[in-house]
Amino acid sequence: MDFSDTPEEAAFRVQARTWLETNATPRTTEGSEYESLGERIGEAELAAAKGWQKKKADAGWACLHWPRAFGGRDATPIQTVIWSQEEARFKTPPNIYLIGHGMAGPTLMIHGSAEQQQRWLPRMLSGEEVWCQLFSEPSAGSDLAGLRTSAVRDGDYWVVNGQKIWTTGAQFCDWGILVARHDPGLAKHSGLTYFVVDMRSPGIEIRPITQIDGGQGFNEVFFTDVRIPDSNRIGEVGEGWRVAITTLMNERATVGTLSGDAFGSADLIDLAARLEVDGAPALANAAVREKIASFHVIAKGVELTGRRIVSDLSQGKMPGPEASLMKLLGARLIQDMAAYAMDLQGEAGAMVGVDDAAHQGRWQYRYLAISGFRIAGGTDEVLRNIIAERVLGLPADVRADKGMAFRDIPRGG
Ligand SMILES: Cc1cc2nc3c(=O)[nH]c(=O)nc-3n(C[C@H](O)[C@H](O)[C@H](O)COP(=O)(O)OP(=O)(O)OC[C@H]3O[C@@H](n4cnc5c(N)ncnc54)[C@H](O)[C@@H]3O)c2cc1C
Repeated sequence: MDFSDTPEEAAFRVQARTWLETNATPRTTEGSEYESLGERIGEAELAAAKGWQKKKADAGWACLHWPRAFGGRDATPIQTVIWSQEEARFKTPPNIYLIGHGMAGPTLMIHGSAEQQQRWLPRMLSGEEVWCQLFSEPSAGSDLAGLRTSAVRDGDYWVVNGQKIWTTGAQFCDWGILVARHDPGLAKHSGLTYFVVDMRSPGIEIRPITQIDGGQGFNEVFFTDVRIPDSNRIGEVGEGWRVAITTLMNERATVGTLSGDAFGSADLIDLAARLEVDGAPALANAAVREKIASFHVIAKGVELTGRRIVSDLSQGKMPGPEASLMKLLGARLIQDMAAYAMDLQGEAGAMVGVDDAAHQGRWQYRYLAISGFRIAGGTDEVLRNIIAERVLGLPADVRADKGMAFRDIPRGG
């Protein structure tokens, strides 16, 4: 297979690069000022992220994969990958729009009414409004359909009570996509309805969770008698699971747009060239070279699996189990590479912080943050289940609660 750019793709790459060169600063091996932040998004980072998104939107470089009718460029999946590869070469603020642009927006395009699309998509695209995903609960993560947050109809409103958890960005988001249970008398997948909620509604309390890297990327979100207008319901009552699947399939599709550089092979080579082992550059050491080469082989395999996903997307197909394979191996690879980079630094590998550690502490931050990536969007075990069932054809997980009314499913106190 030849993965070089076609003449059209090469022309698109030049166009993207030219715009980026005039509007952003190239990334060096010193990385970006935002890279070692953990998930600390304060006022300054939020303003920078919104400014960058607005600049892209004004120039027609925002949400390339969105249809033109919604302000995008109708870009092919390959053009989207090319843009991500080029943008990654520049110092840009943290991307706070993954959930909005990659998941909520595409869901509204399929299941939202024309009025809802008009109301939310333009300000989502321009970056003025930021979105979060209120799906997971303390007892519903991998088994999302087991969620308990309730939505009770009251005239033109729904009254929502319950708790969500691990909600990335809730503390600065304007809107959230929410799945709640409108009827516990139905089987668990059937009793769900999907809403858009204004994150500043009375009755919403957001409590940040401090992560292992010191950042506060996600939150607990409590709902006490929160009133959501029925006009914010997406899809029919009881269609929540079907709408949520669209959101989750889009989450999976974004995995395929990761480029090989996402694993940091070039950064690891740069680090090994700067450090010394036995009085010589680490990069000259045969054992170090062998280890980096073995990482590179896996990175290439994952990257090429990503190309298969892009190729599926180009043909209008949703990605199959390749996305699970890619995330399972890719997340583990990033963690292993970061651990090795810290080992290479010897005792200094234990230091964290932009000023003290090599590469501005990038490896230490990656090592701590990636454990979460092995859980978010499908844990290692759940991905293995998908591969077992859909690739290897092994029998499906036992589902003792199949067809049972949600309120009759036994649960702990
Ligand atoms: C960094 C990060 C950001 C996140 N952001 C968001 C967000 O913005 N919005 C949101 O709604 N959620 C978010 N999440 C939550 C995420 O979707 C859940 O953590 C994930 O779905 C796993 O659910 P859980 O934590 O409840 O673990 P559980 O589902 O309780 O899993 C616990 C353990 O049991 C294993 N397990 C579960 N089911 C099976 C099975 N069938 N077979 C074998 N093993 C199994 C799991 O692999 C895991 O090891 C985020 C999580 C992280 C880490």
